[in-house]
Amino acid sequence: MVMESINPATGEVLEVFEELTDQQLETALEASREGFSAWSATTFSQRRKVLQAAAALLRQNTGEYAELISREMGKPVKEARGEVEKCAWACDYYAEQGERFLASEPIDTDASRSYVRYAPLGPVLAVMPWNFPFWQVFRAAAPTLMAGNAMLLKHASNVPACAAAIEGILAEAGLPRGTFQNLAIGSGRVEAVINDPRVRAVTLTGSEAAGRKVAATAGAAIKKTVLELGGSDPFLVLEDADLDEAARVAATARTINSGQSCIAAKRFIVADRVADDFLERFRAHLEELRLGNPAEPETHIGPQARHDLRDTLHRQVRDSVKAGADLLMGGEMPPGKGYYYPVTLLDGVTEGMPVADEETFGPVAPVFRVPDDEAAVALANRSRYGLGGAVWSADRERAEAVGQRLEVGCVFVNGMVKSDPRLPFGGIKASGYGRELGQQGIREFTNVQSVWIG
Ligand code: NAP
Repeated sequence: MVMESINPATGEVLEVFEELTDQQLETALEASREGFSAWSATTFSQRRKVLQAAAALLRQNTGEYAELISREMGKPVKEARGEVEKCAWACDYYAEQGERFLASEPIDTDASRSYVRYAPLGPVLAVMPWNFPFWQVFRAAAPTLMAGNAMLLKHASNVPACAAAIEGILAEAGLPRGTFQNLAIGSGRVEAVINDPRVRAVTLTGSEAAGRKVAATAGAAIKKTVLELGGSDPFLVLEDADLDEAARVAATARTINSGQSCIAAKRFIVADRVADDFLERFRAHLEELRLGNPAEPETHIGPQARHDLRDTLHRQVRDSVKAGADLLMGGEMPPGKGYYYPVTLLDGVTEGMPVADEETFGPVAPVFRVPDDEAAVALANRSRYGLGGAVWSADRERAEAVGQRLEVGCVFVNGMVKSDPRLPFGGIKASGYGRELGQQGIREFTNVQSVWIG
């Protein structure tokens, strides 16, 4: 079996990678056990140096990695640079904070001394998606490695070159052999890796379907999972919101990464009284965005990462229009090479339409009109997903109160939902469970060990 690296801007095959043979996979699993044994014995200061070296390499070669990301999955190169820089930030952040986050905590009991320590767990399998092919991996790897674990990466099959590059960066940074390995395997072989006794836990970022499958396998094997799955984040515009600012940020929040972000705003829920004014501004900002070659620095929106994903998006738009949505912009599949999809704006969207009920992974913005805050919250929460949500209002306290009623893992007031190494990140409901980033993130893959000394 082979994996193809395909340029979504042209459809051209850039490189072909061989999948690991069973024997190579076995060698990697054994190396992972040995890597864990060496790495878990290191001090925090040794781990800190390796993560800082990784950060330095990412910063030195930002342009090269950004071009690789852009070529392999179509992200505009300007955004890809930001992605690489954010990976360096996460490495530095955990290098600096990891020891403090994992410091043992004394607890008063009947013992002469008792405490809780956060010990490494073992090799962790990371099943990762293509949409932020560097960031998703570093977001998982920086804390997991700082905690003294080993990691096995099963990256998405359409970004094999990014996967290989990440393995190279961490090896060059000085990780012991086997501590971080890229497993070039298809998703059909994930089950066997989870069931291998040398693998102790699994983190998956990806679709709900993949999350269900991986969690079921890990559950049967009694292995911990963290699931970062899809989302359909609501973006609430209350009637007293600063409409200029809300519309400007809404356009970015929907179209970041050409619309292919789990925390992109995907449902615009707007107070009736201001809906026309908001829509006019939102449309103007969306019309300014330039769709085109992701290698060009002026491009805002590149192609979708795979042709099948673009087909799904178009089906969602077409079926929603058939069901009564009002198509204000876009919605036509462009001719020619590359998996491009235009920015699409839909008004009069109601529940039951695909763009309302399903996750839309592309530059498609559905607008819902609601009479008041109550209706906005109720609609926002009638989603199977619960990742993030944004609320816009001139009255911060009101927006905060509305935000706290959203059934989501991250609430942003007068701002766009984004991840930040300092804040835990993750969802509830079908968006998954567990947290990455922050102190909570680094503790997910540790053995919370109680020690009692008589
Ligand atoms: P995907 O198809 O689920 O793929 C993600 C990863 O899971 C890939 O490595 C894939 O491998 C693997 N995979 C797929 N099916 C599997 C199975 N049955 N068993 C084991 N592994 C399996 O998702 P995607 O299309 O790449 O990414 C888009 C989805 O990810 C969206 O729903 C998005 O919202 C979500 N996402 C969530 C977050 C978050 O932080 N919550 C962040 C980014 C993306 P192959 O490529 O080999 O199939």
